[in-house]
Amino acid sequence: MNNNPVVCYIGLGSNLDHPIEQLKQAINELSALENSLLFVQSSFYQSAPMGPQDQPDFINAVAGLKTSLSANDLLLQLQGIEQQHGRVREQYWGPRTLDLDLLLYGEQVINTDNLQVPHPGIPERGFVLYPLYEIAPDLEIPTGKSGRESLKELVAKCADKTTKILNDDKVS
Ligand code: ADP
Ligand code: MG
Repeated sequence: MNNNPVVCYIGLGSNLDHPIEQLKQAINELSALENSLLFVQSSFYQSAPMGPQDQPDFINAVAGLKTSLSANDLLLQLQGIEQQHGRVREQYWGPRTLDLDLLLYGEQVINTDNLQVPHPGIPERGFVLYPLYEIAPDLEIPTGKSGRESLKELVAKCADKTTKILNDDKVS
């Protein structure tokens, strides 16, 4: 465990079994994680699926957490929450009750077999970029070799036109 809390961001997605409820529940579970504080959450968004199109749209959100867990321990906790939501890995990019991705872990760049941070999908995924930009507009994404890319520019370049913010009346 690290002693200094690290600011990290987690991407949430669901397209099965009442996705909005799945995300609300997952946010509650994130806020109950040990040695961690959930300090911000985005609105909910709706996006078209990547890959196979014969599946429902996704609901997505991003949450910010200050945590003293190591990146690996946090990943294990996220996977534990996915399991509790009955996630079964069947099809690559297929439907899922809950997907939790560790998008950013402070300024760290991590490239191990089971963990890549920043999450490599960030630059082209509108369903990650838009909610992240909503809650952290000034964020810089580390690219390795001490380079950084501004989230604002990534949003401006993003070609995804399917991701839409959900109005509160659809979420409550
Ligand atoms: P995706 O989220 O890209 O659709 P999965 O959730 O099925 O794919 O992939 C899970 C795998 O991705 C896990 O085995 C995990 O070890 C690995 N992984 C690598 N980097 C990350 C990350 N930053 N966040 C979550 N899982 C990651
Ligand atoms: Mg995932």
